[in-house]
Parts: sequence; structure tokens; C-alpha cells
Amino acid sequence: MHTLDLDTVEMTLDVMKYAIGRITNKNPELGHPRREEDLLAEVGETITPKGIGGERAFQLFRDVLIKATVPIDHPRHLAFVPAAPTRAAVLFDLVTSASSIHGAYWMEGAGGIFCENRAMDWLVSLTGMPKGAFGVFTSGGTAANLSAMVTAREAWRSRGGVTDRRGIIIASSGAHSSIKAMAKVIDAEVLLVPTEDLLTGQALSERIAGMNPEDRCCLFAVVATGGTTNAGIIDDLQGIAEVCEREKLWFHVDAAYGGGALLADSVRPLFAGIERADSITIDPHKWLFSPYDCGAVLYKNPELARQAHQQEGSYLDIFKDEGASGFNPSDYQIQLTRRLRGLPLWYSLATHGTDKYKWAVERGIYLAQEAARRIDSQPGLELVREPGLSCVLFRKAGWDAVDYTEWTYRNHRDGIALVAPTKWKAAGQSETVLRFCFINPDTTIEDIELILGTLRD
Ligand SMILES: *Cc1c(COP(=O)(O)O)cnc(C)c1O
Repeated sequence: MHTLDLDTVEMTLDVMKYAIGRITNKNPELGHPRREEDLLAEVGETITPKGIGGERAFQLFRDVLIKATVPIDHPRHLAFVPAAPTRAAVLFDLVTSASSIHGAYWMEGAGGIFCENRAMDWLVSLTGMPKGAFGVFTSGGTAANLSAMVTAREAWRSRGGVTDRRGIIIASSGAHSSIKAMAKVIDAEVLLVPTEDLLTGQALSERIAGMNPEDRCCLFAVVATGGTTNAGIIDDLQGIAEVCEREKLWFHVDAAYGGGALLADSVRPLFAGIERADSITIDPHKWLFSPYDCGAVLYKNPELARQAHQQEGSYLDIFKDEGASGFNPSDYQIQLTRRLRGLPLWYSLATHGTDKYKWAVERGIYLAQEAARRIDSQPGLELVREPGLSCVLFRKAGWDAVDYTEWTYRNHRDGIALVAPTKWKAAGQSETVLRFCFINPDTTIEDIELILGTLRD
């Protein structure tokens, strides 16, 4: 099973040929989900005592199963937050697997962790965080947010914070669902400040002033968003930083989606204040063109993260020995055994240089602006608000939620695009609207026009 015989070599070549074909295909077929029963009826049992053979399994995957998936890097996949990993990064993802490096401890993973750390140096430099700030790559934004929240809570308790009651975190109503979900994991409560647009320092200050004294004692962190997933809205990071410093609260910025835009001169000023954060989440698998999965958590004071996350175990002691000293990624987030998921990002950055990354992020912002201009001038369409980063929200006159949903399914079924509706709340009213989110620099103006064409009366 672990030797490479002739059959396996042939299979490997077939698989590699397929992989290279897919990596170079910039316009993959827009697949559709199918019911599990139907897939099972078509492919049959695949896990059997003797195995069905690599050739057969691969054939089923290639001819049936992959067609029941939606390629996230399709240039007209503008739903959710899509992705567009660079070809260099995808290729190096294969190398990362082939290299079998344990990414937890320097003792085993030094050369690979070295590469991750260079990519991390660059991420830290984008934020402008002070000297000493550093971070690690995680499985995604959710794990990064959780790692930061655990660090914040532990730092607060070790400073004498309340231990017999649940901690409290303040976030805006635009915060990502993972903040609420991860607060449950650490048994903390989240107070949402209702905001239609950005969360300001003023609104945060008022929310804190309105808390009763027992609750105020349990408040330990504020989560601001550096680009809401729905609309690309960046909170008033400068104002929030000031309040957090005054009130001695942990200041976390969730820039899982928006973090890539730190590269873009056109919007960088909107992030002013992010350099004052205690921790920041950035997802390279969103707007920094890494393959899944790759998130990152950055800390102003990594030592606090180490105190919160370092695991103990007699068989792990050797890794803490002087002779093995070096940076141990597992000490700074929730996961022990880990893939070197920052390696594809490193290789791609080294290959292309950071200027290309800057160009590719600006391209997403440009596409959002161009889409907005076309929406503005098309009869029956109306912008809900000016684009935020690379998100465009718009409505079609006379349409309700059912119309939007049917349109989404129709376009997907016809292989045209995957664009999904979302909700937008203004003046207390929630409305279903359409949303574009641009990540892929290969998306063209013609792609946008093709989609808008399906919205003409
Ligand atoms: C996507 C996103 C997350 C969650 O990240 P995952 O990588 O999906 O775990 C968290 N916060 C924001 C703002 C996001 O856009």
C-alpha cells in the first residue's frame, strides 16, 4: 500500500495530468449539487474490502462526482466570498502534501515553518502592527477568531478578571457568524451593537456606558470587522482602538475577508487603526489567493497567545528543549498536528512578488466599481449602497425574495453564473437584495455584463 509499483506510477501520472489540466483551466464547468441517493445510485459502493482500484475510483471522481461540485474559482462565481488561488499556490499545495512535514514544531518542521514565517512577516507588515507582533496560519477565519478569543479571555483572567461568570464580548451586528459561534465554544456572551453601517468608537463607548456594573466587569474584548462579509464595511478601527485602550479591553479585528485589501492603496486608509489591534484575523484563502484552507491569526503580543495555547504532555517535552528551540506554530492557536498551510502562500508570493498581489486585489475593487456603474445605468436596477471593498449590493425594481432565488437557480442551472441574494437591513427594515463579491482577477467586464444581461426586462 505504501510502495510505488508500476500501476501506482501510471495512476500517479494520470492523476497529475488531470491536476495540471484543472490548474490551467481558467473556465471550469459550473457544476451543480445532486442528491446523495442519486450519486450513490450512479457510482455504487466505493469502499469495499478489496477496493475498487484507483483507476475506477478516479474515473468516478472525474466523470461524475467533480461535476456535482461548484468550482469556487469560476470567474462568474460571485456568491459568498469566492476564491481564486494562484496556479503557483495550488501547485505548491501538492508539494506541501508530498513533503509530509509536521507543521506543529520547529524541531520537525523548521525549513517549512521558516517559509510560513516569511509569509507571516509580510502579513504583519501589511497591518502596521508594532515590532514583536507575529502570528500563525490556521485552518481558516473561524479557527483564527477562536484562537484570538481564547487568548483574549485567558489574558483577561490572568490579569484578575472575573472567573466565576461568563465573559462578555462586544461586536457589531455586521460581525461574522463565526464570532457568535466561537463565543459559544468558549462560553462567552456576545453583545451586538446594532449598526446599519460601520461601528463607531462613539457607539461602542455608549454601549459600554449603558452596561450595568456586574456586566461591565465581565466585558473583556471588542471584535471589530475589517470588511463585513456581506457588504465590505470597515468599522471605525481608530475610534474603537481608542475606546479599547481607555477601557482596557482586548481589541480584535476580524479581517478574514477584507484583510487582503490592506494591500490596496485605494482603500488602505479605511483600515487606519488596525495597527493598534491586539489580534487580527486574515484569511489568505479568501483575498490573498491561497488554496483552501488557509487562515491566519496575528497577535500584538504573541507571548500571550503562547500562554493560552501551549499544550503540555510528557511526549511533547522534547519540543520545548533548548536543543529544539525555534518557533512552534502549535503554541499560538488551537490546533496541535497541523499541515503547513502557509507554504503555498509563501511559494506563490516568492514566485510572483508582492506587487502582483497588490494589482490582483486592486482588480477586485475595480471590478466592483465597474459593476456599480453598470448597475446604476441599467433601467430597473438600483445600487443599495456604494460598493464596500469588492462587495456590491443592488436591487431589481419589483422583485421579491422568491424572484431573486429563482433567478439565482436559473443562472446556475444554465451554467451562466453563481450569484446569490442576501439581506440588507436599513431603517429597521430587512430587504432581500442581490450581491456580487469579486475576488478573481480573471473575472472580466464581459462576465459582469453577461450576468447583468439576465436581469433585463
Ligand atoms: C469568512 C469569514 C470568517 C470565517 O472564516 P472561515 O475561513 O470560513 O472559517 C470570519 N469572519 C469574516 C469577516 C469572514 O468573512
